[in-house]
Amino acid sequence: DSADFDSETESVCPFCGVGCKVSLKVKDGKIRYVEGINGPANEGRLCVKGRFGFDYIHHPHRLTKPLIRREDAPEKGLNVDPDELSGHFREATWDEAMTLAAKGLMALRADDPRRVAGFGSAKCTNEEAYLFQKLIRQGFGHNNVDHCTRLCHASSVSALMENVGSGAVTATFNEIENADVAIVIGANPIENHPVAATYFKQFTKRGGKLIVMDPRGVGMRRYAEEMLQFRPGTDVSMLNAIMHVIVEEELYDSQYIHRWTENWDAEKEHLRDFTPEKMAPLCGIEAEQIRRVARMFAGAKAGMIFWGMGVSQHIHGTDNSRCLISLALMTGNVGKLGAGLHPLRGQNNVQGASDAGLVPMFLPDYQPVADDAVRRVFTEIWNSEDFSGEKGLTVTEIMDAVHDGMIRGMYILGENPAMSDPDVEHARDALAKLDLLIVQDIFLTETANYADIILPASALYEKNGTVSNTNRQVQRVRPAVPPPGQAREDWQITVDLARRIGLNWEYGDVSEVFAEMKKTMASLDNITWERLERESVTYPSLSPDDPGQAVVFGDGFPREGGKARFTPASIIPPDETPDADYPMILTTGRQLEHWHTGSMTRRSKVLDAVEPEASCSLHPKTLRRLGVAPGEPVALTTRRGSIRIMARADRAIAEDMVFVPFAYVEAAANVLTNPALDPYGKIPEFKFAAVRVEKV
Ligand code: SF4
Repeated sequence: DSADFDSETESVCPFCGVGCKVSLKVKDGKIRYVEGINGPANEGRLCVKGRFGFDYIHHPHRLTKPLIRREDAPEKGLNVDPDELSGHFREATWDEAMTLAAKGLMALRADDPRRVAGFGSAKCTNEEAYLFQKLIRQGFGHNNVDHCTRLCHASSVSALMENVGSGAVTATFNEIENADVAIVIGANPIENHPVAATYFKQFTKRGGKLIVMDPRGVGMRRYAEEMLQFRPGTDVSMLNAIMHVIVEEELYDSQYIHRWTENWDAEKEHLRDFTPEKMAPLCGIEAEQIRRVARMFAGAKAGMIFWGMGVSQHIHGTDNSRCLISLALMTGNVGKLGAGLHPLRGQNNVQGASDAGLVPMFLPDYQPVADDAVRRVFTEIWNSEDFSGEKGLTVTEIMDAVHDGMIRGMYILGENPAMSDPDVEHARDALAKLDLLIVQDIFLTETANYADIILPASALYEKNGTVSNTNRQVQRVRPAVPPPGQAREDWQITVDLARRIGLNWEYGDVSEVFAEMKKTMASLDNITWERLERESVTYPSLSPDDPGQAVVFGDGFPREGGKARFTPASIIPPDETPDADYPMILTTGRQLEHWHTGSMTRRSKVLDAVEPEASCSLHPKTLRRLGVAPGEPVALTTRRGSIRIMARADRAIAEDMVFVPFAYVEAAANVLTNPALDPYGKIPEFKFAAVRVEKV
C-alpha cells in the first residue's frame, strides 16, 4: 500500500537489456520493495532479479569515500578483503583523490596521450557513456575507449552494420505478437531475458510456431515446435543448410529480394554446396529436420529471429549473424509487422552506451571516427581540437597494449575486466602492471583490487538520466535514494575529472548533457527531455507525438542505394578443438539469479540465498563416467588455467559439454576461456574452449 512508504519513484531495472520499468518504494531512506509498472517492454512484469535484486544498494560493502592505495600496501592482486580495506587503501577527500587522478593522467598524457585508455560501462546512463567517450577523445586525442559490448554483441553489430546499415534491432521483441513463426538461437531468454521470454511463451499459446536452436537444451525448448540441439560452433553449417533448402525449393521471396537487397546471386551460388545431407553430420541435426525448419520459416507470413551470445561469442560470430540476416532477407522478413532481426542485448544499457559512442570505431550514432567531416561536427560542438581518425583499440586489445607497455594508465568506470575478460589471468596481470589505475564503482570489485585510486559512484537507482533498452526504447531513470556517504553520480565524477585535466566542460545538470547529445545524434530527433519526463520513446520517432517506430526499414535500408546486402558465410571451425588432453567442450554464460560478475546480485539477499554457490552443469551420464555425484567438486582445466567447482546434473546439456556461469570469483569461468577473437567484431570465443573435467 502506498501509505506504507515515504516515496515512490519510477525508474528502470538495472540488470538485463529488456529494460523493465519499475516503481521503487522507499521507507526510512531505504528501498523496501520494487514493483513492475507499465513500461513499453514489460507492461507491469518483472523477473526475480528485478523484483528481489535491489538490496545490494544498501549493502555495507558500498564504497562511500574516495580511496587511495597505501604506499606500503601489499602487491596488487585479488587479496583485498572488503571488510578490511585499511591495509591496502586509505580514505581520502574528493579533492585529494581527484587531484591525484588528474595529475597522474596529465603526466601520462605529457609522455604520450596513447598511454591512457578508458573502459566505460553499459551499467551507466546514456549521458554518462557519452561523457566518458568524450573525455577520452577530447582529453587524450584518440579512440582507445570501449565497454562490455565488445564481449557481448560486437560481432552481431558488425554484421548488422555491414548488411543492414544499422546496429540496432529492426523490430522490438514485443512484435512477436504479430509474427506467426519465430526463431530463438543461441539465447536462453527464460534465464537471461525472462520478461521477454513471457512474450515468447504467449506467442506459442496463441498458436505461433517457435523454433529453438541451441547446443544446450535451454528452457525455451519446452515451448518449441522444433528444437535443434546442434553441435557447438556449427551454426554456419546448419543455417546455410536451412537456406540451401529455401533456395533449392524456391521458397524465397523474389519480389522482396529484387526490391530491397543486393548480392543475392553470390549468396545463392554460395549456398549450393551446403546440402542438408552434407551438413547433417557436421551440425548433428538430421537433414529432414533441417528441411522442415526451412519450410516452416520460409512459409511464415511474418517471421522474427532472436539471437543471443551463443551466436555472437565465437571467432565466427560475425558469420553466424550474417547467416541470420541473410535468412531474414531472403524470406522478406525485415521491415513489416511481426518480422525482423533482434539480437537480445545483455546489459540494461548496452544499446544506449553503444549508441552514445562508447566504442573505439564509432562516435555517437555509429558515425565513423575515420570520417573527417563527422569529426569536424563533434569538435565544433565540443569546441575542441581534432582527435585521431584512427579506430581505437578494443577491450582485449587494450589489455594486450598494457602488456606491451604502450598503455600505462586506465580509467575504468563500472566495468570488471578482472572477472569478465577472457583468459582473465592475462587481464589481471595487465591491471597489476599499470602505473595508474583509476576505478570508479559502487563496490570494491575484483578490478578495484588492482586500483591506485577508487572513486565511489552511484547505483542506477541513485541516478538521474536516460537508458536505452534492447527495443531501442529510451527511458528515464530517476534517483529513489541518494548515494551513500560521499559517493557521487558517475557523470559528476567524470565532469570533475575532465575539468581537472583542463577540458572546457560546463554542465550544470544531466539534462544539459542530453541536450548536447541531441545535437550529434539524429536518432534522438523528436525525443526531448520533457517528453521523457512523461513517457518512454522508441527511436526513431518521426514526430513529437510519435511514440516511435517498433519496426524499421519498411521503406529501405540506411545503406547506399537503400538496399540490404547478402554476405555469404563459410564454415570456420572454433579456434581450439577438443583433443586427448582437453577432450570436452566448455561453454559459459549467465544464470537466472545472478548478474554478470556477481558484484550486485551476490550482495542481494534473496538472489544469493537461491544460488549461493558456483556450480557447473554436466550431463548425468558424464557424471557417472567421471564417478562424480551431483554436489561433489570437479576440476576444470583448459590451456589457460584451472578451477575447482561443484558439479550439478543437467540432462539438457550434451554429454561432451560443460556449462559454467561466470558470476563467481571463487570459480571464475574466465580463468578458462579462450581469448581468440572474431576478426570483425573483435569478440572473444567465450562459447567454445577445449576442457578437461576431472574428479577431485
Ligand atoms: Fe530486470 Fe531484465 Fe528481469 Fe526485466 S527481465 S526485471 S529488465 S532482469
